[in-house]
Order: sequence, then structure tokens, then C-alpha cells
Amino acid sequence: MNQKTLTQRDKNIIWHPYTQMKRWSEAIGIVKAKDAILYAEDGKQYIDAGSSWWVTLHGHSNTHIAKRISEQLTTMEHCIFAGFTHEPAVELAERLLPILPGDMARIFYSDNGSTAVEVALKMAHQYHQNKNEKQKTKIVAIEGAYHGDTFGAMSVSARSLFTEQFNAMLFDVSFIPFPSKANEGKALGELENILKQGNVSSFIVEPLVQGSGGMRMYSPETLEKLFLLCKKYDCLVIADEVMTGFGRTGTLFACNQLKDAKPDIVCLSKGLTGGTLPMGITACTAEIFDAFLSDDAHKTLYHGHSFTANPIGCAAALASLELLLSDDCQKNIQRIVAKHCEAKQQLSSHPKAKDVRQTGTILAVEIDTGETDYLNNKRDFIYQYFLNKGLLMRPLGNIIYLLPPYCISDEQLDYAYQSMEELLEIFNTQ
Ligand SMILES: *Cc1c(COP(=O)(O)O)cnc(C)c1O
Repeated sequence: MNQKTLTQRDKNIIWHPYTQMKRWSEAIGIVKAKDAILYAEDGKQYIDAGSSWWVTLHGHSNTHIAKRISEQLTTMEHCIFAGFTHEPAVELAERLLPILPGDMARIFYSDNGSTAVEVALKMAHQYHQNKNEKQKTKIVAIEGAYHGDTFGAMSVSARSLFTEQFNAMLFDVSFIPFPSKANEGKALGELENILKQGNVSSFIVEPLVQGSGGMRMYSPETLEKLFLLCKKYDCLVIADEVMTGFGRTGTLFACNQLKDAKPDIVCLSKGLTGGTLPMGITACTAEIFDAFLSDDAHKTLYHGHSFTANPIGCAAALASLELLLSDDCQKNIQRIVAKHCEAKQQLSSHPKAKDVRQTGTILAVEIDTGETDYLNNKRDFIYQYFLNKGLLMRPLGNIIYLLPPYCISDEQLDYAYQSMEELLEIFNTQ
């Protein structure tokens, strides 16, 4: 038996993501995860209020999903997806296509959110090239965006501390202002000015909520206007629903809240497998797919990953989707939406709550700390404050938020709201 703790064994051999290892060299060892709770090796428990980086939908170690994964593991664990196909991949596409926003006709599988975005960017770019619209090479995104950490995904993301070391290597992208209510006219105006130049291939957005950018929210009406403008100028719209998908915004997908406008490409990951296995999907319309059909080899979409359409991932996604569409889960989502709504009223009245916002199951509070930088030292204090309270809530700078798994109980939610209020009170008395 190894007498050392996980924390100790990890310390000298592992490099953690998004982590300055000099300051954060002690990772908390987790030995079990069930429903909304993470169990640490020292006996502490943490409510996973952010769904483990936004992936867990139905809680941890869900037995329904586990059963399907286990059955798939002993039927077919993997199979090359070029020239071959299999039941889980076909069934998942059959089930997803009718419920995705827009007129999605094809599913392209990959590994994670960043790869789903890379595929979307390639599809959109090559679509215009294949149609001989050679000048359409420009991509437009929104200020503050986050679409992933690979180079293409970084290029369409905000230039920030996270991309700084690589900025010179990223391709040129036009960013329009964040389309808040106050900024809507400006955002639409700038988008149209860029579109008018006739060289834009696509516009990529996080619909309704910018996640990593600080849970920044904007209205479906505004999103509608942005999409319709793109349509007018024959610019493809990529909806990056990697975070917003699978019920987070209160509807199945954020783009379901649109009336007439439709995305041309949809990116999915995170909640896709209920948070059990990594997988990405890029869905597109028949019009895009058809532009790649040709006897000319140059018009082929040359992209693929070793684990494309991994059957275990597809089986997990099918099981998770079944749960998501069940009455129980839909009721849970509406329960969380209603609880958040009440908490929002309560938290809004606090003098240190600069802004309290909600979209569906996502509730965010911007704390008035006097600083706004992601690196402000209050961030570490806030993170530690919640950990001490048994809450895993990684703040985005001075923004604290809940994005819980749908199995979270009313008591756990109340405890989180109360802890948020107590934190605001600490800032009030400082
Ligand atoms: C997390 C995220 C991604 C990247 O997904 P990974 O699986 O972490 O690569 C892309 N887009 C959005 C909107 C995200 O929130």
C-alpha cells in the first residue's frame, strides 16, 4: 500500500491545466464522486456547483449512463470511423438531428469542444472555397469570446492573458462589441460594416451566454438580429453550444430561444456525454454538406481524429440524452430555473452585488471588489472561501456563478445561495 496521499504523489509528477504550479502545487485528492458531491481523500465533501467545468449534467457516477457504457465496452469499444460505421454513432445522429436548432442534416464527430470548433471553422471556410467564393476568408467573433484552446479556437477567442504568448501565431479575426442591451446598436452596426466588405466566411458565437468571458449574457432578440444580418450577407453562422447546450439555458439548446433565425453549424461537447467521456460534435445543414460533394478531391473535408465517433462516447451520449429528455430531468431544470430566479431577487439587493444575472440554470453574481482583472488577488480568496465551505465554485475573476448538475437538491442550492450572500457580506464589511 502506498502510504502517501494523492496530493503528495501528484505534487512532483503532474502538470495541471490552467494552473500556475508554483502557487497551486497541492491538488485536492478526490476518491469518489456521486450525484452533486465530490468526496476528498481527507474526508471533506464538496458540492460540485459548476458541474466540473460545466460537463456534468445528471450528477456524478450516474448508474444509467454507467450501465450503457459498460454494455458498450464489451460489445465494441472502438472501431475506425473512415469507411466503417456502427450502431451508437448512427443512433446518436438519428436522435440528435431532429432536436438540434436549425435545419441540421449531418453530424461530424470529434473529441472535445475545441476540436468541434476547429471542424466548424474548417467547414465554414472550405464551404465558400468549394463554392468558388475565394475572397470569403474572414471570420468574425464577439469580444470576450472563448471557443477553446487549440490554435484555431484560440484565434476566434478574445486575445487575453491566456492567449498572450501565442498572439503572433493566431490568424486574424474581426471582433465586434459584446451585444449587451446598451451596446446592441453598436454591435450590429460594426457587424454590418464588416459584412459589407464581402469577405466574411463565418460568424462564430456563444449563443446567449459567454461562459469563460465571465458568464456574460445577452438576449435572444439580439442574437436573432445578429444571425439575420449574417444571413443577409451570405455569411455562415456557427453556434458554439459547447457550454450552453443540453439544457443549461433553460431550453434544450440556447438557439431554441430564437424565433426565425437559425444557425448553419452547431458545436457540441461538454454535456454531450452527460460529462462522462470526452466527445465533440459539429452538426451542419445539408447546404454546407452538399458543397463538399464533388469528383474533385480538393473539395473533400480532410479532417479526422483517431477516436472519431468512439462507440463508448456515443453510448454515453445516448444514455445521457435519454435522461435529459425525461420528465424528471425537465422538471429538475425548471426547478433550478425557478430557484435561481428567487435567489437573483434576493442577491440583487446586496450593495456589493454589482450585477446579478441569470439565463436558465446559470446564475452569476459580479462582486464589487474594486478590481476587475481575472488575476486580482480577490479571486484566490473567493475560490478558497467556497472550498472551505465545502463548495466547488471556481470564480471567473470577480464573478461567482452556479452552473449545477440537474440532480442538485434544493437544500444544496439554498446552501450555495446563502454562502454567496455571506461572501458578499465579507466584502461589505471590509
Ligand atoms: C469549454 C468550451 C470550449 C472548449 O471545449 P474543450 O472541450 O474544453 O476543448 C469551446 N467553446 C465553449 C463555448 C466552451 O465553453
